[in-house]
Amino acid sequence: MTMFDIHLLPCLSDNYVPLVRDCATGTVAIVDPADAEAVAAELDRLGWHPSLILNTHHHFDHVGGNLELKARYGLTIVGPAREADRIPGIDRAVAGGDTVMLGAEAGHVFDVPGHTAGHIAYWFEGAKTVFVGDTLFAAGCGRLFEGTPAQMWSSLNKLADLPGDTLVYCAHEYTESNIRFARSVDPENAALHVREVSVHAARRLNEPTVPTTIAVELATNPFLRADVPDFVRAMHMSGADPITVFAATRKAKDNFR
Ligand code: ZN
Ligand code: FE
Repeated sequence: MTMFDIHLLPCLSDNYVPLVRDCATGTVAIVDPADAEAVAAELDRLGWHPSLILNTHHHFDHVGGNLELKARYGLTIVGPAREADRIPGIDRAVAGGDTVMLGAEAGHVFDVPGHTAGHIAYWFEGAKTVFVGDTLFAAGCGRLFEGTPAQMWSSLNKLADLPGDTLVYCAHEYTESNIRFARSVDPENAALHVREVSVHAARRLNEPTVPTTIAVELATNPFLRADVPDFVRAMHMSGADPITVFAATRKAKDNFR
């Protein structure tokens, strides 16, 4: 049975805003509204009335629509407790271990610091769906603006431990350039090569490469593979611990052109 009907709205230059409707109750949530006008127009077109915003972190391309959408719909804004002072209009501050209801579905909140210090993710176990903001991307991960490699590695592993068929909604369409980098550090990975072909095909048709799944990321995302011997060997770092390998991979990506 389908629990969620999710409409993925492209916003700004490369953001995705998931519009999420719980099928059992008709409750609608907006995840990380980048732009109020675009979100409202799409909700009107769908005939959906939102009652909730779920924010993952404080960056403007994730909270920029908060106040305007709150004024328009009178909705409730849920966001990260550790960044509450930077989440416009926040009504409920949550942290790891808390539960957020979206209609009949319970979302488990995870602390996933690294991209920002208070970044959170929302895992809806029954709907097999996780909203990860800028922590995990398709074939990539977020830049470490406010956290350490050790924090990000631990955050990514919380997500990697979810069931393989969990749908992963990330907040940006970065997949083609992420795969170009991934191929450069993990050239022998056959699954990655297969993924490259399908991602190019999707983008040529202007189709999103989001959502992805945990299983696909485990097989192809270099930032989840810092503890996989084949990948560590490809990085010429045999014997190094995962955090060191992860840090080197993230640094290589920061400098990749
Ligand atoms: Zn961000
Ligand atoms: Fe972002």
